[in-house]
Amino acid sequence: MEALSRQVVVAGAGIAGLTTALALAERGFSVHIFERTPGLAEVGAGLQLSPNATHILARLGVLDLLRPAAVKPEAVVLRDAATLAERTRFPLGAAAEARWGAPYLVAHRADLQSALLARVGRHPDITLSLGAAVRDVAVHRRGITASIDREGKVTEMAGALLVGADGVWSTIRGLGSVGRSRFSGRIAWRTVVRAESEAGRAFQKIAPTDVVTAFMHPSVHLIAYPVRGGGAINLVAVTAGEPMGEVWSREVDPAVLGEAMRGCAPELVRLAAEARPWTSWPLHMVEAGHPWIAPGGIALVGDAAHAMTPFAAQGAAMGIEDAAVLAHCVAARRDDMAAALADYQAARRPRVARVVRRGAFNHFTWHAGGAVAFARDRILAITPASQLVRSLDWLYGWKAPEG
Ligand SMILES: Cc1cc2nc3c(=O)[nH]c(=O)nc-3n(C[C@H](O)[C@H](O)[C@H](O)COP(=O)(O)OP(=O)(O)OC[C@H]3O[C@@H](n4cnc5c(N)ncnc54)[C@H](O)[C@@H]3O)c2cc1C
Repeated sequence: MEALSRQVVVAGAGIAGLTTALALAERGFSVHIFERTPGLAEVGAGLQLSPNATHILARLGVLDLLRPAAVKPEAVVLRDAATLAERTRFPLGAAAEARWGAPYLVAHRADLQSALLARVGRHPDITLSLGAAVRDVAVHRRGITASIDREGKVTEMAGALLVGADGVWSTIRGLGSVGRSRFSGRIAWRTVVRAESEAGRAFQKIAPTDVVTAFMHPSVHLIAYPVRGGGAINLVAVTAGEPMGEVWSREVDPAVLGEAMRGCAPELVRLAAEARPWTSWPLHMVEAGHPWIAPGGIALVGDAAHAMTPFAAQGAAMGIEDAAVLAHCVAARRDDMAAALADYQAARRPRVARVVRRGAFNHFTWHAGGAVAFARDRILAITPASQLVRSLDWLYGWKAPEG
């Protein structure tokens, strides 16, 4: 019984699942991660990792493994996509690390996942099974039994807790018949170009590569920043678009993006044509108001709980925060899982909701046109950088509970 109360099953080996496994194992739990895919391929593109997430990665011994592949940008710079004029500059670099106690980094998702996997592989209390999907779960008065499907062969695993870290189209969330994901009406276009490629050199003539640059335009915004230790540049454009079903990404014709970029500076339009392959990512959201827990022993983390649009660059960061808070709550109330999970949900939902609102605000301002864009630019011109920095203390200065 004692051993069972320490056993946790995690569904999904993405950023949220791997971080949750590490955070729980650090607190004495024995964790078995089941990942549906047979191999963890290089899925995704760049991620901005703000100090609220990197301080957790540091505590879990992951940050040092990530650093060689990550870049610490000097600033976030907002530019008008039509004129390329700089509208404001939000300082990061050493100043951000000193203010918020951890670095603001940019990295490829695959490099973060590799760093997490390296740490997981060294942990004696974590087992990772690939090609094993969690298909079903029975909730008992104390604990759960998960059904694991390996190419049609189903086995069971009992534990005190099942963590659904299985992404935006979560099976675990679906078992509770709550909170379906919905298409946001937006498509993200992503590509990573080598700094030394033609497209990489074309970008360097438009903007410096030691910062995160956001180009703003009513029909598109384009974010660019270095990844892979500075050897590559991550480009993400967001436009309106049509739903594509439950697919993460698909290679697409850059001419469609070129159409959405009409009115942007010719240098940017040419860059979009030269950079390839572009993949499109339909942006799906999961309303965070549905239950994230079942008192008997299920908790959702990451996109499974609250997939959000990426306009605050916080989706993965919120999954990392979820992991730290869930582990804290479960360890603090080892003999009362229902109360621990209620604490977790109560702690996380208001913060995630605030982040979602911030993302919507960013989208509104970046896509503004006419008089609203004029007012935005005026306000940005007279707002001191120190005030912009202070306005994000609540987000970047957040610290996960210790112990
Ligand atoms: C364009 C774009 C830009 C972004 N930029 C940023 C950014 O700058 N900063 C940031 O913090 N976030 C960003 N995000 C968000 C971030 O990528 C996601 O929030 C994050 O990767 C989600 O991680 P996850 O672990 O919750 O889910 P996922 O990465 O989807 O992982 C889920 C895992 O579960 C597995 N799985 C699914 N079903 C099962 C099952 N039944 N059993 C077992 N395994 C299963 C899947 O195979 C997968 O490996 C961005 C997203 C997009 C689309």
